[in-house]
Amino acid sequence: MTDFGGALKPLSENPDYKIAVLGVPFDEKSSYLRGAAGGPAAIRAVSTGKCYCAWTELGVDLEADTALVDLGDVDVSGDPDKTFALTEKAVDRILAKGAAPIVLGGDHSITYPVLRAFARHVKPLDVLHFDAHPDLYEDLYGDRLSHACPFARVLEDGLAAGVVQVGVRAVTSAHRSLALRHGVRMVEMKDIQETLHLRFANPVYVSFDLDALDPAFAPGVSHHEPGGLSTRQAVQVIQALKGRIVGLDVVELNPSRDPASITAAAAFKIVKETAGRMARPSAGGEP
Ligand code: MN
Ligand code: MN
Repeated sequence: MTDFGGALKPLSENPDYKIAVLGVPFDEKSSYLRGAAGGPAAIRAVSTGKCYCAWTELGVDLEADTALVDLGDVDVSGDPDKTFALTEKAVDRILAKGAAPIVLGGDHSITYPVLRAFARHVKPLDVLHFDAHPDLYEDLYGDRLSHACPFARVLEDGLAAGVVQVGVRAVTSAHRSLALRHGVRMVEMKDIQETLHLRFANPVYVSFDLDALDPAFAPGVSHHEPGGLSTRQAVQVIQALKGRIVGLDVVELNPSRDPASITAAAAFKIVKETAGRMARPSAGGEP
């Protein structure tokens, strides 16, 4: 079903894996449209080696230069609390092995349990958050675990030393004051003119909401917010950043809105280039 260009092996072939793909097919915290639960299957389906090779743009061979496994999906058959607990536990297990998780969402609510697991293993941790939205609502329609809230919870619990949000373009004044209070750096879409060169002092976790991309590049998301990043701009931010990437989630892919799997392919591109930087942090044009 999936092989990431031949790089992805079964656990039995790569017991000492360095990078683990984990799906969380969960969209019960979506506020507008359901569908993100189909994300993991859609990303896996496009990743076939019949279409893609295992090499990243920066010259990393994901098959030879690292050990990548797919751990399958978290069991989401229980209630949301149970799904979050199982997600946290699955990520905890990956980190306990000294490996880096690549989590395929699911809606953006799943980032909170992922970062709860990280807080036990990697501290201090910086977070690079791509999104059209800052996801800093105190609550949405009374739900503090909505997909509109994960970064409010992350800040509240002190799970990140620094948060940089890239691509935001739907910001309320309440978001701005919360960001200011917690020292969140918002790199707003309206201010992005050239390639960003971000530098992170601490290990960095990348949380990638696909609606950061312009709907022209990524129509398969629930919330279309025009005026976003091109796929190239997003890839460049990841390729140019200075720091050590220790985890990634790619969330909010809604396959029911994704003609010709355009957005799934963009999601896979983000996964692939980020995995390359995880495998070889020094790879690329930026020493
Ligand atoms: Mn989001
Ligand atoms: Mn968003």
